[in-house]
Amino acid sequence: MTAIHQTEWTGLPAAPGTAIGTGIWLRSSPAPAVEEIPVNDEDVQRELSRLGQAIERVRLRIRDMRRQTAARLGESEAAIFDAHLAFLDDPAYVGEMKRRIPFEKKNAEWICRQLTDETAAMLEQLPDEYLRARSHDVRSVGDQLIEELAGRTRDAVRWPEEAVVIAEDLAPSELMQLPREVVALALLRGSRIGHAAILARAMGIPMVVGLGEEFRQVRDGQVLIVDGQSGLVRVDPDGETAARARERIQNLNRQRQQALTRVHEPARTEDGVAIRVLANMGNPSEIQTALSRGAEGVGLFRTEFLYLERSNWPAEEEQFRVYREMVEAFRDRPVVIRTLDIGGDKLLPYEDREPEDNPFLGLRGIRFCLARPDIFKAQLRAMLRAGAFGDLRILLPMVIDAKEVAEVKGIIYQCREELRNEGTDVPDRIPIGVMVETPAAAILAGELAKEADFLSIGTNDLTQYTLAVDRNNARIAHLFDHAHPAVLRLIQHTCEAAAKSGVPVSICGELAADPEMTGLLLKYGVRTLSMNPEAIPLVKEAVRRTRIHSTG
Ligand code: PEP
Ligand code: MG
Repeated sequence: MTAIHQTEWTGLPAAPGTAIGTGIWLRSSPAPAVEEIPVNDEDVQRELSRLGQAIERVRLRIRDMRRQTAARLGESEAAIFDAHLAFLDDPAYVGEMKRRIPFEKKNAEWICRQLTDETAAMLEQLPDEYLRARSHDVRSVGDQLIEELAGRTRDAVRWPEEAVVIAEDLAPSELMQLPREVVALALLRGSRIGHAAILARAMGIPMVVGLGEEFRQVRDGQVLIVDGQSGLVRVDPDGETAARARERIQNLNRQRQQALTRVHEPARTEDGVAIRVLANMGNPSEIQTALSRGAEGVGLFRTEFLYLERSNWPAEEEQFRVYREMVEAFRDRPVVIRTLDIGGDKLLPYEDREPEDNPFLGLRGIRFCLARPDIFKAQLRAMLRAGAFGDLRILLPMVIDAKEVAEVKGIIYQCREELRNEGTDVPDRIPIGVMVETPAAAILAGELAKEADFLSIGTNDLTQYTLAVDRNNARIAHLFDHAHPAVLRLIQHTCEAAAKSGVPVSICGELAADPEMTGLLLKYGVRTLSMNPEAIPLVKEAVRRTRIHSTG
């Protein structure tokens, strides 16, 4: 048998940054093995009380982790552990264990393993990626319960000085317990939007997920370069490549430190053109981070968090409070709020939706909102009301032609009239923007610019739809290239069409966060870039190095 020496692997980028270090497997998985032991009637009570004690000890452990996370990263990251605590009170999980022990007359470990596997398998079947990611939470809680029941402790790990953790998957609690030596994370499975990814981003640890089963061949002690921006992992690079990577990482760190000192200064090109650098946000808990990284407003506020992980549609009032908090935090700076973009990989458990063969080509984004005016109007009314408190702008996702925009404007007009009749203060004009994230929208940018106040290019979806490459499929992640000539040509065309109509155009997809692309985008005519807040400092520096108009 010939050994495979694959040295380059592509997964999905889950937390940005690049690091080099020594690989070390985190052997928490497979889950602790348990034995099936029948118990007699007298012992049932003992098993129940062992289970009760284990639950209480795990509860204390998770609460402690929650406290540590709040102190280190903040309340919104700490809230991730609430999902774990909730399992400890869930009648369908621990409640069902307590019911099954006397019924099946088996030891607590065995019943716990069964319930954990069943619950995780049930969650893994769900179409919604967010809910599927919850299966990791229940497995983490189940493993902790079994460890407590069996009185087992994990083997102490000897950490190399700069460690790249390799694991099948990583629970948030495992991530929070990693020592400071850990410089990057490389996961065989995992999710880009799971809790571990959120924590890794907050901790500034580069992370790549979805590297696939074959990544198992990577061994402890091999050197890994993890690029959390592109999703590329190099294993055992030759001396020269490793040295170059180290140099690049050091340079980047130096540049980043330097960039941070100037982050609150405006970004002007070398030839004096002012560029607006804004933040992409998905939750108001990120306001402070965005401001501290120098965001001059919000170019994309994804509102899906309001709709996910709950059991019913959010009311207008609840949404109003969130949107108002956002615009007030940024005072007179713009806050672009995107209307609900569900469908695709984001499905809601409480939405009665017929299964689709191709959800990314289905009832997603604006198509869903136009099909459900009741849901849409609640969101638009909340936005219009919040518009009275700051510079709020509305952005429409997944548009393919100007008809959709005109239809939305009609609904906004109706909402405004209704609110005024109710005596509510609503601004006369709220700018309406269109996301250019389908090839159709890019090709029709000129027509869209006539209906819209601004265009915002969503390069994540534009790349996915132009190249026909599913952005969540790790097996074809090497084909997902937002700088592909076909994508760049659509961006250039959009910018030219927008300029002809005198409508501003911004970029809010990941391409905007890539400092190597900044110069080109500015030359295309882009004057506003919106990105994850961590990327702002280096992109501002890239703007300062750019000369848009050639001299000579
Ligand atoms: C995009 O598609 O580029 C975008 C910014 O939207 P999202 O990543 O939320 O789909
Ligand atoms: Mg998109």
